[in-house]
Amino acid sequence: MKKITAEILAIGDELLYGQTLDTNSHWISGKLTEAGIRVIRRTTVGDNETDILHAFAQAEQRADAVLITGGLGPTSDDLTKPCLAKYFNCEIKIHEEALAEITAFFEKRGRAMTETNRQQAALPVCCEKITNAIGTAPGMWFERNGKVFVSMPGVPHEMKKMMEDAVLPKIREKFKPPVIVHRIIRTAGIGESFLADKIAEWEKQLPPHIRLAYLPGLGEVKLRLTASGEDEAILHEHLQKQIDLLRPLISEYIYALSDDPLEKAIGNLLREKKLTLAIAESCTGGYVSHLITSVPGSSDYFMGSMIPYAYEIKMRQLGVKPETLEKYGAVSEPTIIEMANIVRAKFSTDIGVATSGIAGPGGATPEKPVGLVWIAYSDKYKTVTKKLQLGTDRLLNIKLASTALLNLIRQNLP
Ligand code: ATP
Repeated sequence: MKKITAEILAIGDELLYGQTLDTNSHWISGKLTEAGIRVIRRTTVGDNETDILHAFAQAEQRADAVLITGGLGPTSDDLTKPCLAKYFNCEIKIHEEALAEITAFFEKRGRAMTETNRQQAALPVCCEKITNAIGTAPGMWFERNGKVFVSMPGVPHEMKKMMEDAVLPKIREKFKPPVIVHRIIRTAGIGESFLADKIAEWEKQLPPHIRLAYLPGLGEVKLRLTASGEDEAILHEHLQKQIDLLRPLISEYIYALSDDPLEKAIGNLLREKKLTLAIAESCTGGYVSHLITSVPGSSDYFMGSMIPYAYEIKMRQLGVKPETLEKYGAVSEPTIIEMANIVRAKFSTDIGVATSGIAGPGGATPEKPVGLVWIAYSDKYKTVTKKLQLGTDRLLNIKLASTALLNLIRQNLP
């Protein structure tokens, strides 16, 4: 099956100067990928005719479809339209239907229309107009030698509406791209290369129409399987078959066969098992609680947390024994065990968990370097601890320790 390729071209000085983040290209990439179109390049150019024409020529050589956003306005720095007219070698004239749409746009809002607004209805005669239902700059569709150029406004919500209502349906009709189906498998507690080793044989036997991508995140790795073909139902079956083969190889690391994050997967498990959770988090400063409570319905299982950050609070408010703290210090296995056990008892929950560590960059001692974190899990059957040696980046340490704690919960729930 022939691959249909696309290139995205974002135009505007503000994108190059770092004043506006190019969210359009990101969004368009996602939509084209979903539609079975392979995005092969994204380019950003400023408001400069030579650069824009050069970018058009290069994109036309490489891709079947070139999707352009920005530079469509009525002001002199908006060069996309004159550049397209020059590139496709045709004159610009008032497009009567576009003029009627723009006139109606202003009438509906009770606003006067200026000559500049009227000029937005002037389009290269060799393009097909694309209606802009929520703005004044029409989009343009050009075709030459089987290739397509589409120009859309830079304003994100106008571009999105135009893309969904008109451009994507037209692209599907013109190129008849293959059907694409994705499945996500989320894993935690194993690094990307170890994971790759464990599933190497399985990966080798994947049929050519199924591709595997490793998407590593903080303390976790997502696997994305993408199948392309003609029949969606058959592709789903093929993917399910591969997932059934994969699961036993890495079952202890898989926490979701969907794109749900770890905190949601844990929430589902706690609800299913009718278990409640309390947290005593020191070095993570509430981040684990934030993750847990960011899931709607978390009040079903989350009772609350305590952030006994200071030594005295660990002792007086939480109730860690002074001798434990004095003998072993706050960042130690005996302390973390007490923290998890006590918070479970204090909050009368089934599960108690805790974190204590040196997030950095200061606070290290020769025996306790920055990045040393203890985490613990406690239920009525057992207490489990884990020592982490993380890096020197404070925020990263907080996030990694939080993911590790969530994973510890997942691995130990009764
Ligand atoms: P209009 O004629 O409707 O104003 P336009 O095509 O002329 O649209 P621009 O003038 O280039 O678009 O940009 C309009 C607005 O959209 C600006 O606020 C700009 O920062 C924003 N914008 C432009 N390009 C992008 C992009 N690639 N990603 C996100 N925002 C963008």
